[in-house]
Amino acid sequence: MIKLPKEAQLIIEKLNQAGFSAYIVGGCVRDSLLGLKPLDWDICTSALPEETKRVFSSHHIIETGILHGTITVRINHKSFEITTFRTDGEYEDYRHPKAVEFVSDITEDLSRRDFTVNAMAYHPTMGLVDMFSGQEDLSRKIIRCVGEPTTRFQEDALRIMRGLRFAGVYGFSIEEKTKEAMFSCRELLTKIAAERISVELKKLLVSEFTEKILLEYRDIIATVVPEIAPMFDLEQKNPYHQYDVWKHTIYSVGYAEKNLIVRLAVLFHDIGKPQTFSVDKKGICHFYSHAALGETICETVLRRLKFDVKTINSVKELVKYHDAQIEPTEKAVKRWLQKIGEEQFERLLYVKEADAKTTFFSDEKLQVISEIRRVFQTVFEQNACFSLKDLNLSGTDLIALGLPEGKIIGETLSRLLELVMDNKIENTKESLLAYLKNE
Ligand code: ATP
Ligand code: MG
Repeated sequence: MIKLPKEAQLIIEKLNQAGFSAYIVGGCVRDSLLGLKPLDWDICTSALPEETKRVFSSHHIIETGILHGTITVRINHKSFEITTFRTDGEYEDYRHPKAVEFVSDITEDLSRRDFTVNAMAYHPTMGLVDMFSGQEDLSRKIIRCVGEPTTRFQEDALRIMRGLRFAGVYGFSIEEKTKEAMFSCRELLTKIAAERISVELKKLLVSEFTEKILLEYRDIIATVVPEIAPMFDLEQKNPYHQYDVWKHTIYSVGYAEKNLIVRLAVLFHDIGKPQTFSVDKKGICHFYSHAALGETICETVLRRLKFDVKTINSVKELVKYHDAQIEPTEKAVKRWLQKIGEEQFERLLYVKEADAKTTFFSDEKLQVISEIRRVFQTVFEQNACFSLKDLNLSGTDLIALGLPEGKIIGETLSRLLELVMDNKIENTKESLLAYLKNE
C-alpha cells in the first residue's frame, strides 16, 4: 500500500474517468516502498499529450517536454509531471533517443527505464506493476539493469553514473552483470554532457555510502575525473600516514560532513600530491606545495564539469588552506574569519577534521580542532568584530571628520579593525572616534 498525495490521486482519477490508464511511476514508487518520502510524484498514462491537456484544461498546465510526452500540471501550488507511455526508439551518440514513440501499454514504458527498482508503477486500487522484480531487488538491496546491461549503457551511458549514485544513496550493491557492464562501457561516459554527469556526481558525493563507491568504482569515477587517477595506490612513506593517498582521500570523504563544498574539498585536498612528491635522504616522502597545486587542478576539474563559480571558488580556497596551521587563539581565529569568512571557516574545520581522522596522531590533531571550534564559538558569542562591515565606524564617518577621500580612508579603517580584533579598542563609535582624535 502506497499513500499518494491527494493531488496525485486526483490526477489518476481524472485520467481514469476519461478512459485512460494512469499510474505513479519510477522514483516515487521506489522511495515509498523503501519507507522514504519521495521528492516528487511522477505519473505515467496512456493518454497522449494533447489528450492529457484536454483532461486538465481547467488547470494550470506547463508544456515541459511535450516532444517527449511530458506535461506538468499545477495543483495546490504543487507540480506533477504527467508523461505518456513511451518507448525511446533508437539511440544516437550514446545519449539521445532519435525519437520517442508513444505506446498504449505500460509494460513497454517500464521496459525503457534504467534499473529494476526504478521500473515499477503503482495504481491506488490495482496495486503494483512490477515486471522486472524491482520489489525483490529493493528488499535485497540490489541495483540491476532492466534488460541487457551493456545494451542499456550503450543507449545512455549516464545510467552508469545513476547506478553508482543510487548504490551510494541507498547503500545497495550492484548486481554482477550490471557491474561488469558499467566497467566495460565506462569510456562512453566521455560522450555525456558535463552538466548531466555533475548532477549525478553531486548526489553521489553527499550520499551515505560515498566512500564505498569511490573505493569499488574508482576507475569509473576516473573516467569522468581523470585527474584523480595518479592518487591511486600512491604510497606516502611518512610518519603521518597509514594509507595511500587515494585511500586516505576516500576515507576522509566518508568522515566529512555531507555538504557538497566540504566533500568536494576533501576529495581534492591531496590531488596535488602525485606531482609534488619527493623523497629525502632518510627515505621520508614530502609533498611540498601540494595544496597550491591542488587548488589549480581542482579548478580545472570543476570548470570542466560546469560547476558554478561560487562553488569552484569555495572549494579552491578550502583546498588551498586545508593544511594551514590555525592557532587555537582568539587572535588567530579572528584573523581567519576576517580572511575567509564564517561559513568558509566552519567548512575548513570540517575539512581539517575529516583529513585528520585518517592519519596517524589524529587524536592530537582533533584535539586542536576542537579547541579552535571552542574559540570560534566564544568569538561568535561575543559578537566580535572581524570584518570592516562589523566595525562601528564607516568611511562616511571619517570623511565627516575631515579626512580626504581616497586610499587613506580604507587604510585607517583597516588599522582600526586590527586594533579592535586585538581587543585594544572597543568597537563603539565613541571609542573609535576618541582613539583617532588622540592619535
Ligand atoms: P530522484 O530521486 O533523483 O528523482 P528518480 O529515479 O526519480 O530519482 P528521475 O531522474 O526523476 O530519477 O527519473 C524518473 C524515472 O525516469 C526514473 O525512476 C527512471 O524510471 C526513469 N529514468 C530517468 N533517467 C533515466 C535514464 N537515463 N534511463 C532510463 N530511465 C531513466
Ligand atoms: Mg524523480
